[in-house]
Amino acid sequence: MAKNFKRPDGRKNNEHRPIKAKVGIIPNADGSAMFSTGDTIAIAAVYGPRQMHPQHKQDPEKGVLRCTYTMNSFSVSDRIRPGPSRRSMEIGKITQWALEPAVMLEKFPSTVVDVHINIIQADAGTRCAGINAASMALAHAGIPMKGLISSISVGKLDKNVVVDLSKEEEDFEEGEGATDIPISMTSDKELTHIQLDGKIDKKQLKEAIKLAEEACEEIKKIQTKALKESLGNEESVDEDKDKDKNKEKSE
Ligand code: UDP
Repeated sequence: MAKNFKRPDGRKNNEHRPIKAKVGIIPNADGSAMFSTGDTIAIAAVYGPRQMHPQHKQDPEKGVLRCTYTMNSFSVSDRIRPGPSRRSMEIGKITQWALEPAVMLEKFPSTVVDVHINIIQADAGTRCAGINAASMALAHAGIPMKGLISSISVGKLDKNVVVDLSKEEEDFEEGEGATDIPISMTSDKELTHIQLDGKIDKKQLKEAIKLAEEACEEIKKIQTKALKESLGNEESVDEDKDKDKNKEKSE
């Protein structure tokens, strides 16, 4: 790590932004969830399993997971043009591939499960926030799963490996600039998705994956807690509030 390096918002290199999670936010959906990290907010709604139409797309051996990713027009200060784009279609596919290894598709043949992800506010890391919300929403819908999928973006700012890049950090131009590596993994730390935007050497990539594993372990706990809370009271999980409560207890 370079000496005197400071992240723009003062976070430690292994420190993600404050996370909030809530399950059961869209009553009409079979399952739904919200996941936010810093100023990035994603919601996901799950519908299904229901019969696949058109019929020729049915698979008698297993169900189909169909994911859409949409950034709301107002999610960034430059209004996003409504409707599908190359980027949104690509992220929809990536989300599907990231989630599929955890979903027991063979349990619902000939059907489709629709996962709709909406980005309400964007400050980088939206695909990861969307995957986290979708994973909770699938579990909330009672879709048979081997476990949750957790996702985080790691990367490099100049020579420094960091976790959960903000938009300001993604645009970092000093020294070697920024490298962005969104990663998703199962609860057993098996990677289901990794992308790389920028350059990184083998040693630092290993370091970055280690940071992602640690962050995903924390995210998994937050996701699980939000799911448990949806069974009882509907309070959201707010990391800051939890920290305050723990502090009060220890005082
Ligand atoms: N972004 C934007 N307009 C766009 C696409 C992206 O302003 O049309 C911003 C937004 O803050 C997003 C960030 O750029 O979170 C990074 O986008 P990227 O494609 O790297 O995906 P993400 O990091 O959100 O998964």
